[in-house]
Amino acid sequence: MKHLIDEAVSLLQHAKQVHGDKVVYACSLSPQGMVLIDLICKHQLHIPVLTLDTGRLPQATYNLMDVIHERYGDVLHILFPDAEEVSAMVNEQGINLFYRSLEHRKTCCAVRKVKPLKKALQGQEAWITGRRKDQSENRADIAPIEDDPVYHLKKYNPMRNWTEKDVWAYVREHDLPYNQLHDEFYVSIGCEPCTRAVSVGENPRAGRWWWEQEGAVAECGLHVSSLASKAADKGG
Ligand code: SF4
Repeated sequence: MKHLIDEAVSLLQHAKQVHGDKVVYACSLSPQGMVLIDLICKHQLHIPVLTLDTGRLPQATYNLMDVIHERYGDVLHILFPDAEEVSAMVNEQGINLFYRSLEHRKTCCAVRKVKPLKKALQGQEAWITGRRKDQSENRADIAPIEDDPVYHLKKYNPMRNWTEKDVWAYVREHDLPYNQLHDEFYVSIGCEPCTRAVSVGENPRAGRWWWEQEGAVAECGLHVSSLASKAADKGG
């Protein structure tokens, strides 16, 4: 565990040294996100922690934001989608458009997640993510530092070598806050209508956009670059 912590802190420090005020952490408030927030605050790295309020989050996630505020102060910078774009989308295509087709779901993710994040990343040089290799096949070859061709930034992945077990061991040992839905068999938590609990042994990503056809990639588009290069590698 110590080597994982040292490795993550060292990469965070490196990112801060190289990029100064032009590095941010895009946090999904997952358990590994809680670890990163804890490490950033403990080591006084002053890396802004961005998180998205899509407007469709579960109440448990809002409760977690509150607990983070109580424990760490105003560390979270909450991003919101453009109100007019959301209004146009739901008025034209329905409030629950994401259940209608993959295309509709991607439209919703683009308006509520990808665009606000893209806007927040403008002018930055680098961003930090909480992605881990063990999360899915698509993430098995994550490097510590990657070039992000979509956002044209350096992308740092300090949690890439942590397993789910490592993350929970740190969370328990340091009594970190976490989303209470994890105690109800939710693994990967996003928006309320697009997230469900999974059964024992089921792929964690099966809890997201489960109605989509097998073979559709269960990603929201925030990390599309590595998927695109993987498809290119396979000639897809
Ligand atoms: S996860 Fe669902 S509700 Fe959230 S932005 Fe994507 S499609 Fe919309």
